[in-house]
Amino acid sequence: MARGARSGTGGWGAGAGFLLVILAAAALGFLWSIVRNPAPQIRFDAPVLGLGSNTVLQFRVRDARHRLKSVGVEIRQNGRTFAVSSLSVSPAAPTAARGWSFGWRRPAEDWLVTARIARHALPELQPGRATLVVTATNDAWGRFFRGGRASVALDVPVRWTPPQVEVLTAQHYINQGGSEMVIFAVSPGTVQSGVEAGKYFFPSWPVQDSAPQTRLCLFAFPYDLDPSAPVRIVARDDAGNQTVTTFPYKLFPQRFHTSTLELTDPFLQRVVPPIMSQMAELDDQGSLLKDFLLINGHLRQVEAGQMAEFSKHTSPHFLWTQPFIQLGNTKVEAHFADDRTYLYRGQVVDHQTHLGFDLAGTAHMPAPAANDGQVVFAGFFGIYGNAVIIDHGCGLQTLYGHLSQITVKAGERVQRGQLIGHSGETGLAGGDHLHFTVLLDGVPVNPVEWWDPHWIRDRITAKLAAFGAERHGAAPRFAP
Ligand SMILES: [Zn+2]
Repeated sequence: MARGARSGTGGWGAGAGFLLVILAAAALGFLWSIVRNPAPQIRFDAPVLGLGSNTVLQFRVRDARHRLKSVGVEIRQNGRTFAVSSLSVSPAAPTAARGWSFGWRRPAEDWLVTARIARHALPELQPGRATLVVTATNDAWGRFFRGGRASVALDVPVRWTPPQVEVLTAQHYINQGGSEMVIFAVSPGTVQSGVEAGKYFFPSWPVQDSAPQTRLCLFAFPYDLDPSAPVRIVARDDAGNQTVTTFPYKLFPQRFHTSTLELTDPFLQRVVPPIMSQMAELDDQGSLLKDFLLINGHLRQVEAGQMAEFSKHTSPHFLWTQPFIQLGNTKVEAHFADDRTYLYRGQVVDHQTHLGFDLAGTAHMPAPAANDGQVVFAGFFGIYGNAVIIDHGCGLQTLYGHLSQITVKAGERVQRGQLIGHSGETGLAGGDHLHFTVLLDGVPVNPVEWWDPHWIRDRITAKLAAFGAERHGAAPRFAP
């Protein structure tokens, strides 16, 4: 008995001590849970550059542990606070981060918040600077039961007036499928400007680094636009205000050539298997003709998208000073924007537009760089076979296709006339020739203009001489 009692007393003492530790831990845990701040996360998908006359702000609020209680947006300026009342909160979909929830653990809450800040709703907010404050609170016990709270404050400009655009060049003559240049000045705060032709946008570049508000823009009227499509200058500022300006121009619609190509079995046998074997992403369609149609249609599209990507790796300066050169002693075998009909055993099987020039001379003839620039791509490029793309700055690039051999590497500087490879029949080529395309911001344009010294003088050199003399003829430079 005594033994048992002693043992019981000792057990009671240990139990009480244990209980005290538990209670102390619970008390500490409770205290911690009410003083800490288990805040939700606030994240902007795009940086907020400013507030304009009609700004739509979007941000995400995510909370892994707690339920979201409130979201607020306010603007502070000169000691005054303006609440933004036009808020909409919706579940951010899809909530990939939600994952599995185990027992007590609530799935993450993920919300998309859209705030509309309109000038008419905030009549007392002045142009200048302001602080945008975004807050979010949850239902946690933290901050003495007021909930976990996150807050983001951003110092931003407030602009009510859209950018001003002043067109400086007077004459603009555009051939459908061809190029042109306009020079204009934009007001401070403009972050993006360029020429919009139908669905296409061509960005502008500073004429001189020391005066970034005077802009030059090489633009095209792409071959596939309807002649009635408008050509306009568009400028946006950091507050999201936009100006659309018309400028004088004359468009000359063109009639493009049509041609018919007969697909023969020997041709398909020669060109299709090498492309299929180098393009692992293409699935065998079961016949040479079906594989050809996949290459001629789908792969052509994919590669047009890749050319748009290459155009983003352009120098902000002209890298060239002289007209572009055409390969000497060549015969032009296909024109720009030829509408091609493909026949197989007398049946029409495909239509595509040929967006370059096919130049034929002798087999494996040397291919020169059309102008000074930097190689942005050198390698196998699907329908173009072994190809080289050279950047000449401000969105202008040239492509050389079907090469038998390439003698330059990506990243290399090249001079006008420098050997870049030899012609051949790699890719979709019916015989040894050089395929030459001029690209403006990834869009194929008529090369003939760029070969013409008079056109270069009237459209480019003379305009630059008038508005940016020191730029033209300056030593080519690269941006870092
Ligand atoms: Zn071609």
